[in-house]
Amino acid sequence: MTLPAFSLVRPQTVAEALRVLQEAAPGQAKIVAGGTDLIPNLQMKLYAPQLVVDIKGIVALRGIEWSPRQGLQIGALTTLAELEHAPVVREQFPVLAEAVAAVAGPLQRNMGTIGGNLCLETRCLWYNQSEFWRRALGGCLKLPMPNPHAALSRTICHVAPGGKFCWAVWSGDSAPALLTLDAEVEIAGPRGRVRRPLRDFYKNDGMDRIALGPDELLTAVHVPAHAAGRRGTYRKLRIRNSIDYPLAGVAVTMEVDREGICRAARVAIAAVNPAPLLVPQAETLLVGKKASPELIEEVARATTRTGKPLTTSVSTPEYRREMLRVFTRRALQTCWHNPGRAEHEHNSGD
Ligand SMILES: Cc1cc2nc3c(=O)[nH]c(=O)nc-3n(C[C@H](O)[C@H](O)[C@H](O)COP(=O)(O)OP(=O)(O)OC[C@H]3O[C@@H](n4cnc5c(N)ncnc54)[C@H](O)[C@@H]3O)c2cc1C
Repeated sequence: MTLPAFSLVRPQTVAEALRVLQEAAPGQAKIVAGGTDLIPNLQMKLYAPQLVVDIKGIVALRGIEWSPRQGLQIGALTTLAELEHAPVVREQFPVLAEAVAAVAGPLQRNMGTIGGNLCLETRCLWYNQSEFWRRALGGCLKLPMPNPHAALSRTICHVAPGGKFCWAVWSGDSAPALLTLDAEVEIAGPRGRVRRPLRDFYKNDGMDRIALGPDELLTAVHVPAHAAGRRGTYRKLRIRNSIDYPLAGVAVTMEVDREGICRAARVAIAAVNPAPLLVPQAETLLVGKKASPELIEEVARATTRTGKPLTTSVSTPEYRREMLRVFTRRALQTCWHNPGRAEHEHNSGD
């Protein structure tokens, strides 16, 4: 579990970081922010870049700014702990406060950044293993590793043998919450800075997970003002409730008027597909309606149709799919009936 050898550079500005990334040999540079995902992956020898670009010294990428007209701007280096405790996030965007509070444990939230959380590597039971373990198996599509002792050595997907598609799973918690808030990401690259909807940032491909070039940097997240004040909650399945990646995650936001009619709604899921995804039918099913057990069940079933859990984790696909349904139902009930109580409820798979 030692680190591979690499050169480390510590740019102090975005321009400097972009220059370093552009000058690096193709595919040979990795960005590190908090390092809570990248460093364990380097130790597992999932990749061995020549160059690691430590962006933590770029002060301009830190901090949270809020204005009722412009919305919320979160610098990429803002830590998850800062977001979790920021009064404006807790009051105006409770789904995000809950989701970041559910990431890993306090140590990772103190180090881990929102940029790193949105750019996480996808995860799979057959990939996130030691080099020895992966070699014995002959590698996988995402990380080929021919077994010299096997007579007919070829790289296969152990999740879907015969397939050519990598099903490694998007296992971050903040992305589904931000999807329900219509967030955008700001990306800096050789052609300047652009903003694009977060939903277009994910490619739903376990090997090629995000729309970010090797010479680009995620610099900020923007949450539009119209999403402020939405009711919201996040539900998460994991093995150890104190510190674990999600095995299924459901984020819900809603606007409900005085008559109890839903005026806006989003449901997003994570940890069951190679990308975090909005459930397309949720909004159509919910808007203009009052709560009923039948309607909530219908949306919960639509969520299970968007989620495609496979054998990428220690939990079974059947259980994770069922928990999508249960979490969606509970989250909708909370948003509709007990919007202030979400934080105190237990995220449990029981
Ligand atoms: C035991 C353990 C449990 C964990 N549990 C969870 C969990 O429950 N939920 C969860 O979501 N995560 C979990 N994590 C992963 C991690 O702690 C968080 O996702 C964290 O937010 C990652 O942020 P970071 O700054 O540490 O990212 P890093 O490790 O620094 O980077 C992660 C990835 O993002 C890229 N990157 C980072 N910043 C940028 C940027 N600004 N622009 C472009 N690319 C960038 C890096 O190149 C790397 O590929 C866990 C980690 C551990 C070790």
